[in-house]
Amino acid sequence: AKEPVRVLVTGAAGQIGYALVPMIARGVMLGPDQPVILHMLDIPPAAESLNGVKMELVDAAFPLLKGVVATTDVVEACTGVNIAIMVGGFPRKEGMERKDVMSKNVSIYKSQASALEKHAAANCKVLVVANPANTNALILKEFAPSIPEKNITCLTRLDHNRALGQISERLNVQVSDVKNVIIWGNHSSTQYPDVNHATVKTQGGEKPVKELVSDDEWLKGEFITTVQQRGAAIIKARKLSSALSAASAACDHIRDWVLGTPAGTWVSMGVYSDGSYNVPVGLIYSFPVTCCNGEWTIVQGLQIDEFSRRKLDATAAELSEEKALAYSCLS
Ligand code: NDP
Repeated sequence: AKEPVRVLVTGAAGQIGYALVPMIARGVMLGPDQPVILHMLDIPPAAESLNGVKMELVDAAFPLLKGVVATTDVVEACTGVNIAIMVGGFPRKEGMERKDVMSKNVSIYKSQASALEKHAAANCKVLVVANPANTNALILKEFAPSIPEKNITCLTRLDHNRALGQISERLNVQVSDVKNVIIWGNHSSTQYPDVNHATVKTQGGEKPVKELVSDDEWLKGEFITTVQQRGAAIIKARKLSSALSAASAACDHIRDWVLGTPAGTWVSMGVYSDGSYNVPVGLIYSFPVTCCNGEWTIVQGLQIDEFSRRKLDATAAELSEEKALAYSCLS
């Protein structure tokens, strides 16, 4: 039998946490033959609620779940973890300045970075979900210098999956037949959902999305804004945020990273920029990646047209600004 993998979920008593932990315990993230031990962290005001989640995990009698650590102690939570899903973060509250939210999150990610660096298992893989996800991941990377930068990522898979969903609805095809959309840049409203290289499996073979959706105006307009604003649309409809799809996307992100992407298919991940596609080095930026043997690689050589170039640059500019704001909170 396989050794259990230890998976940390921070903010585990929150909405996303509540949707995510049962998925992990059922094998959705790491596969149906991989036992797991869940480490759940939250802050003291959420301790009782966190304990309730732990009770439910016991009651669900998940065969793959070999143990649960539920704690408000960062060191205990981080000790020995192989995978860390960082969902906890300070929420945007009405009337708060962007800088105030940034400042709270910078200090949270700085201290959690140190705990992970000192106590996580070697080669721990990190996924940041809490917003501002790209910049929180960058702070985590800066304050955990001994964790390889390749191991620190942020979630843009939900945006990627939303783009697949929109194309599938528009063309009335199975979502599993659509592939190779791209989310470039920040997990924010400046992200660029790009279908220039996306394809659909049809009876007549693989066809470009651009050929099947002949309405270029829709692809450059409504499609992009629908994906960018989908989170707000769900809050409006549900009066709660999109926790189910965020949790599912977090599972997809880790599963593909650990177990690999299918041949000929790429996914979107927020990763440390090496300057590919002229994106400034030193930002955590969402790129198209393939994964093999537990490592991601940025897909190279894609043609970037004039329209796309402007969008890639605009979202990079926003990330540079966020980075500067985050650093100003540190000093
Ligand atoms: P959620 O579980 O709904 O969201 C958690 C984080 O994920 C937020 O930053 C949220 O951003 C972000 N997020 C990213 N993508 C999505 C998406 N598609 N849909 C929804 N959220 C998304 O928040 P809760 O408030 O329910 O839970 C947060 C938990 O974190 C609580 O249990 C709380 O106690 C804990 N916490 C921990 C802190 C710490 O570790 N020091 C500090 C503060 C809270 P956005 O804000 O933009 O919605």
